[in-house]
Amino acid sequence: MARTLDPESRRQLQIHLQYYRDLGIYDFYRREGTALVADVAEEISDSVDNFQPEDALKLTTQKKQTPRDPTAALKDLRSDIGDCKLCRLAKGRTNLVFGSGNPNADILFIGEAPGADEDMQGVPFIGRAGQLLTNMITAMGLTRDDVYIANIIKCRPPGNRTPERDECETCSPFLMRQIGIIRPKVIVALGAVAAKTLLALNAPMSDLRGRWYDFTPHLPKNAPEAATPLPPIKLAVTYHPAFLLRDPRQKKEAWKDLQRVMQYLGLPVPQKSG
Ligand code: URA
Repeated sequence: MARTLDPESRRQLQIHLQYYRDLGIYDFYRREGTALVADVAEEISDSVDNFQPEDALKLTTQKKQTPRDPTAALKDLRSDIGDCKLCRLAKGRTNLVFGSGNPNADILFIGEAPGADEDMQGVPFIGRAGQLLTNMITAMGLTRDDVYIANIIKCRPPGNRTPERDECETCSPFLMRQIGIIRPKVIVALGAVAAKTLLALNAPMSDLRGRWYDFTPHLPKNAPEAATPLPPIKLAVTYHPAFLLRDPRQKKEAWKDLQRVMQYLGLPVPQKSG
């Protein structure tokens, strides 16, 4: 909703904006609860005197900008998360597992939660299930450095229990921001927890697999990643590698899921996984 400023506040704001402009700062984004505004530079390009702050208040983040360098943006996000204590999992963790891989990746794999090995080393998917995921990525003709790997939650649940709903919800804005930064062409949800959480659907894996979903991350309103329009992101669901370790007969099905992803991305699709 547009806000109306009294003449004195308007004058002060104009002075303030001109001050930033003189410093060469043209782009602003709005923080919750403050009167300062996004993208005022466009509005004041002719004359600061013509600038209507209430119009700019409506604008917030709409200006066409190129997204920030994803490597730097991920670094900033990691420092925003800091030594997170937002949920009960903070108490039991050794390391927060942020994610790893190529910040410019076309494919983002999303698992459930770190296990013991990941908790020890702060890197996702490095235990037994992780080794299978690495093999799956290799079968696609890629390496872990070509893709990005993250989890629904960033801290290990005690005894590797399934994450609670409130833990997923608390951690979700961080993952959404990660997606908004990386902007992958395809997200591969590994297993039911990842698929159901990302899609907000409660369906069996047999229904969730085998089709494409359009995915739009719910970005926090004031996140810098929300300032630029997102490209279309597709989401595919496949089995979690830990499940495939328990039931290797399903690897054939998982390979079909990955082949569909490769086809979509125009990657050469070998007929056999080797
Ligand atoms: N399982 C997951 O879902 N994620 C990991 O990082 C490791 C195991």
